Amino acid sequence: MRYKSCDWISGGLDFRQNSIVLCCFTYMQGYDEYELVSNYFGERINWEELFKRKRELTELQKKGQSAKFCQNCVYLEERDWYDDDTINCLIFNHWTKCNSACIYCEFGKEQEYYGKIPYYDIVPILEDMEVNGILKAVPGSFVSFGGGEPAILKNFGKIIKIVERNGFKNIRVNSSGIKYSEAIAQGLDKGIINVCISPDAGSKEKYLQIKRTDAFKKVWENIGKYVKSSNDKLNVKIKYIIIPGYNDTKEDVDDFFMQINNYHVKSVCISVEKNWAMNLKINTYCDKREKRIYELMDYFKCCAEHQDLELEIYSEGLAFEKYIKEKYLK
Ligand code: SF4
Repeated sequence: MRYKSCDWISGGLDFRQNSIVLCCFTYMQGYDEYELVSNYFGERINWEELFKRKRELTELQKKGQSAKFCQNCVYLEERDWYDDDTINCLIFNHWTKCNSACIYCEFGKEQEYYGKIPYYDIVPILEDMEVNGILKAVPGSFVSFGGGEPAILKNFGKIIKIVERNGFKNIRVNSSGIKYSEAIAQGLDKGIINVCISPDAGSKEKYLQIKRTDAFKKVWENIGKYVKSSNDKLNVKIKYIIIPGYNDTKEDVDDFFMQINNYHVKSVCISVEKNWAMNLKINTYCDKREKRIYELMDYFKCCAEHQDLELEIYSEGLAFEKYIKEKYLK
């Protein structure tokens, strides 16, 4: 049936540290996450209950309405949607341990604390989904690892195997790139994984300032190794999050593209720092800066085009662009 909906309403799950939520985009509308299962720590899932909650949202969409947190979301689109109780898109965000200490990340800010938090094993849950026919890869399906750092996640290779044998061939791994992973390299070779690494800097100094980990050289070398292993070079995506006050000049962007060129990268991503972008609506004093950041995004796009690179704009970047266009370019 044709109606306006999104992958997440239709068949998505986002596993968190202590809950299962619908998606990770409700913040763009300024709302809390929509919990499908609260206080969740890896227990057996009551699928009937979970799909009942999801169906309520689907029914709204079919009537041409939306839950409040979905209204005006950039991910809503009109097309034919699968209408069964299966899961086609997954995000794993159930662990917090990371080997980087990025200034913009909750886990990075308090690396020691978050590094010690125990987390549940997702493998039995995936096996349960598999046995019950709930995991269903359809055109457009994907799996994404948020985290925490996937390369240090317990059972990372096993998780990849389960989703792979269930037909998922579009697996996004967001990695710091600090630890080289054989499982990622093999997935790149098979063409089922695309890895996204976000150094956010093209110089050692800026990297250290933003990541607070002395791994600039190692990360770019690992990027180079992943590019070599990949069957499709576009599956190694290197991201630049613009962090106002840290890496927000054209020189910073130029340094980044120098490294991109040095390591033969063919695909780049751009975004803006999420917390800063979320605060824009409250802080009207930063008008000048927000326009400058918007222009820097444009400059980044031009550099990518100039080097003939594939470009992806991340959800925070898309939401920021939408906000600026609505505010200034109506
Ligand atoms: S419409 Fe947007 S906010 Fe709603 S479930 Fe889909 S991605 Fe999430």
